[in-house]
Amino acid sequence: MIIDTHCHLDFDQFHADRDSVIERAEKAGVKYFINVGSSLEGSRKSVELASRHDSVFASVGIHPHEADHITEDTFTEIEGLLRDKKIVAIGEIGLDYFKKRSAPDKQKTLFTRFIEISKKRNLPLIIHNRDAARDTLDILKKNGTHPVSGVMHCFSGDEKFLGEVLEMGLHVSFTCNLTFKNAKRLREVAKGVPLDRLLLETDAPFLAPQAYRGKRNEPAYIIELRDVLSEILNVSKEEIEKVTTDNAKKLFKIPG
Ligand SMILES: [Zn+2]
Ligand SMILES: [Zn+2]
Repeated sequence: MIIDTHCHLDFDQFHADRDSVIERAEKAGVKYFINVGSSLEGSRKSVELASRHDSVFASVGIHPHEADHITEDTFTEIEGLLRDKKIVAIGEIGLDYFKKRSAPDKQKTLFTRFIEISKKRNLPLIIHNRDAARDTLDILKKNGTHPVSGVMHCFSGDEKFLGEVLEMGLHVSFTCNLTFKNAKRLREVAKGVPLDRLLLETDAPFLAPQAYRGKRNEPAYIIELRDVLSEILNVSKEEIEKVTTDNAKKLFKIPG
């Protein structure tokens, strides 16, 4: 049994076959999905998707790419969405200096504001960081709870960053990019993640595993990530499934 802790099944890429995508994943062993909001529209759709599927939970948040376009009305609607019972996290939120689609200052303000919301609602964070490790850690240290409840999603970075992330109390999740031929370095870093902090995610439709590289990713492919982690960490596939499921249930308070 697997939990895909980060996917975007609300995206247009799944418009034609969303139900069969979910079915295929369930057949592959995925019991629960956390559909992660990356915009106001995406958060709305995540909540809607969770209401239609028992196996889907929702996270509400706004990606740093959107930071330039946020108004007070955005937050009014976010607060409204947060009343939904199937919301298990705040995210994805964070900083992206790689694409820099929004001004860094606006990104920081948005990130900080969502951290406040997560504290008020007692919900864990799903954090996106790309090329912004220093600022991400600084903001979390200054504004987050101690320890920080949440996950550094789609982990990228070196051992030093990993060490700081773990010290803050965060969980770490890798996507199927860990299976890429050229991800040797990241696989080395992944060896340093203790099993009790590890989560699985696909970030579908993005980052399909090596075998399907360049194509649409979907939650059924998460088994490729499980397999590579089993190799890297030298534990059985069953153990990877068990620990990551236990971790996800605990962090996101998923019942059952
Ligand atoms: Zn992300
Ligand atoms: Zn994502």
